[in-house]
Amino acid sequence: MPHSISSDPHGFRRRGVLFVLSSPSGAGKSTIARKLLDADPTLQMSVSATTRPMRSGEVEGKDYHFVDLTEFRRMTADHEFLEWAHVFGNRYGTPRAPVDAMLADGRDVLFDIDWQGAQQLHQIAGGDVVRVFILPPSIEELERRLRGRGTDSEEVIQGRMDRAHGEIAHWDGYDYVLVNDDADDCFAKVQTILKAERMKRSRQTGLIGFIRKMNPAGPV
Ligand code: 5GP
Repeated sequence: MPHSISSDPHGFRRRGVLFVLSSPSGAGKSTIARKLLDADPTLQMSVSATTRPMRSGEVEGKDYHFVDLTEFRRMTADHEFLEWAHVFGNRYGTPRAPVDAMLADGRDVLFDIDWQGAQQLHQIAGGDVVRVFILPPSIEELERRLRGRGTDSEEVIQGRMDRAHGEIAHWDGYDYVLVNDDADDCFAKVQTILKAERMKRSRQTGLIGFIRKMNPAGPV
């Protein structure tokens, strides 16, 4: 992973943010991710590879790279993933090369990955990673939202509810935990987190040069 940097209006450089959004499916994460990307051209989405079949309305290369098991195994063997995991009986992985390219280009990267991915990414990239977990207002509301999508069978919905309980159990592997009572309100909170994290001193790699210019005689 390159030393990820971008600049701000004062010309200092900073390390890019690897911004992870996780939630049980149905908690509203995709809507928040889309709004974040629309509002912020510096942020780019990491598109995962998956062995899961394409759902109606999904677009190859935009929602996922849809690959078969043989190709996924090849990518794993060739170390093409930053992280990968089994989720709902399928495999999902984050291709490494596009993330490196986005960081090198001065972008921050948004990841829609589960707790296993968040954990692995944190092991690899530590302080560059910000992990945000979004909770539904209640389990009943989550089930209502999942049924409302109308895209999944009863069996899939039950599987997703079971999985949701497992996912929620990992809430303590995140830096921030938010309850999505209201989509706009939750989006505003996530945006605030991203903005604040960008300003963290540990990310401002160009700060020393700026301070030196301000105070050439003083100690740094
Ligand atoms: P879905 O099949 O509903 O699109 O996604 C199922 C779950 O897989 C979601 O919780 C999503 O965050 C997670 N996921 C998607 N891509 C990746 C990935 O590349 N790595 C990991 N670890 N999880 C992923």
